[in-house]
Amino acid sequence: MTDEEKFAIRDNIERVRENIEKYRDRSLYDGEITLLCATKTVEPEKIAYAVNECGIKAIGENHVQELLAKYEQIKTLPCELHFIGSLQTNKVKYLTSKVKLIHSVDSVRLAAQIDKCSKKDGVITEVLLEYNSGSEENKGGILYDKFRETYEEISAFENIKVSGMMTMAPVCEKKSEYEKYFSQTYQLFVDFFKNMSDNREKTVLSMGMSDSYMQAVKCGATVVRVGSAIFGKRNYLN
Ligand SMILES: *Cc1c(COP(=O)(O)O)cnc(C)c1O
Repeated sequence: MTDEEKFAIRDNIERVRENIEKYRDRSLYDGEITLLCATKTVEPEKIAYAVNECGIKAIGENHVQELLAKYEQIKTLPCELHFIGSLQTNKVKYLTSKVKLIHSVDSVRLAAQIDKCSKKDGVITEVLLEYNSGSEENKGGILYDKFRETYEEISAFENIKVSGMMTMAPVCEKKSEYEKYFSQTYQLFVDFFKNMSDNREKTVLSMGMSDSYMQAVKCGATVVRVGSAIFGKRNYLN
């Protein structure tokens, strides 16, 4: 890693943090907003730099294979490791003992597998329910009409703790368009997670990526997942 690369990562993280402070709405969420680094295709050396030298406290991988390939190098870093990508049931067994939070649970079937593997590993796995805020077909996430039913069924699993929600908004041409999807997700989040009178623990609303994190924090996100705005454009070829 060159000095320029280090400088760029540090500078980018600083800028994202400044923007988060500038755009956030404390009337919706007043706690600490987690800047999670989305680290797909990013070399462990760069991830370590972001964590050790720039104070990043959470990183997220979104392919199981890639997570496993990097695992030995990233597991000792002083940060939380999350899984943020879409997840197939047959790969769940690799994750339950390794990750702090799975952001992308969108079916009872997937949750049942997480519950089963968590029992085997003797852990309780924290998950977020992924909401399909754009009602897009062919995309992951629970649809609005199914949300309550799915929430209730998944919450009943013994070895799963549902800690909040995540959404991937549709790609919008104008940044302001994101706010519609994020506001609607925030509303649902409040209905299901903020009003739980016995819930004094921190609940999580994970939304916003490089293109949309400013809109997301404006609408009450507690976690933003930022990749290319920190590490530069991804090169999937190498
Ligand atoms: C890649 C990815 C991100 C980050 O995307 P960027 O546009 O690079 O910031 C966030 N969330 C998920 C689920 C991702 O796969």
